[in-house]
This record gives sequence, C-alpha cells and structure tokens, in this order.
Amino acid sequence: MRSICFTDHVPASDGYDPDNRMEISDFEKYRSIVDEIRGTGGDTEVLWGIEADYYPGCREFLDEWLPAQGFDMVLGSVHYIGAWPFDHPDHKERWFTCDVMSAWREYFEMVCELADTGLYDALAHPDLPKKFGARPPESDIVDMVASAFDRIASSGMAIEVNTSGLRKDAGEIYPSSQILVLAFEREIPICFGSDAHSPSDVGRGFGAGVALAREVGYTEYACYRQREREMAPIP
Ligand code: FE
Repeated sequence: MRSICFTDHVPASDGYDPDNRMEISDFEKYRSIVDEIRGTGGDTEVLWGIEADYYPGCREFLDEWLPAQGFDMVLGSVHYIGAWPFDHPDHKERWFTCDVMSAWREYFEMVCELADTGLYDALAHPDLPKKFGARPPESDIVDMVASAFDRIASSGMAIEVNTSGLRKDAGEIYPSSQILVLAFEREIPICFGSDAHSPSDVGRGFGAGVALAREVGYTEYACYRQREREMAPIP
C-alpha cells in the first residue's frame, strides 16, 4: 500500500452519537497518534483525515472547525435516518418492519444535503442502507441515487469504494456495481477505503474493490493531501 489515510469519526459539540466518536478533548491525542505513526510509516505515506457525519445541525460546529484542522482528507457520511442509527447492529430489527423505500429515500435526501454543504472531499460508503440486506427494487434505487450523484458531481466530490460491506450481511462492496456505474457516468472520482476498525481489516477486500472499479471502467483513483485531490492509476 503506497499510502494510508486515517479517518476516525469526528467529535461533536452537541452530544450527537457519543458512543461512536472521540470527545473534543481527545482530538489532540488523535492528531498526535497519527503524527507519531507518520514517523514510522516506512515506504507507506501516512495521511491524516476524518470521517465527519452529516446530520441536521452539524454545521454549527463543522463549518468552522473542519477547515481549521489541516486535514488531508474529509470523508462525509450519513449514519442516521431521523433519530434512527440505521446501520447500528442494535437497531437493525427496524429494517424488517419499516418502509424500506422511504428509509432509502430519506438517506439519499441527506446525501444531497451533505453534497451541497461543500464541506467534504468524498462520500463514505455510498449505499450504507443495504448493510443488513434490506433494499428497494433496483429501478427505484437508480432514481434516488441518480439525483444524489448529480449533486455529488456538482460539488466536485468523490465517492468511496468501501470494501467493508463484504464483511457485513450485505455481502458486497459499498457501492454496488449498479450504483458505481451511475458515478462513472457522471465522472465522479473514486477513492478506496476498507473502513478498518482493527489492524487486520486494513486494506481487506481491496483486490475485489479494484476489480469492481476496473469492471465499471475506472482507471484512476483519487488521493487527497491537504484537501487537494491527486489522481493516480489504479494498480
Ligand atoms: Fe461510516
């Protein structure tokens, strides 16, 4: 691996989703841990980023705080539909009783809002609502994704090809090949992520991620340094 970018979850000033993020007071520790690793990375370039959740109200904090930190890359993600942490295993039962179509639609409406903020470099795990296997018919997915990706394209963002879906009930990469085609048609760049929450998952599934990207037509991927995008040939 030529480079690796750490993207822990952003702290929140308003008590949002406290179980899945560091406290603001821990943030400097995160910075110093990555700085320390940078010195021991050998041939692997170590980059410093963050996954910043988008949710109503987040901008009060993020608008000023995010650009001030000097990140190499900022991933944007949506993890809540209303008050429902829809990708949390403790809350997955709701997928079996809810209106799946409306849930997906609400998710992609949030993605549209995320894109319009201009705060982010790339959209993380684009079709995360499929995590536990609940999904609407393909033709409906195309409709909702197409309008969200139009907004992503206008914002100049990339999307992440995230291999962690292979380790979940979904059993496939985020996004599906059908959705990745919609990104390719709009010339939306891609980056690769494995969403590793442990060292053994770093880069896991990248062979499949690269194969998927190539199959759809991609020949390059995006890498971010100091929030500037550079394209590199897919290995
Ligand atoms: Fe995430």
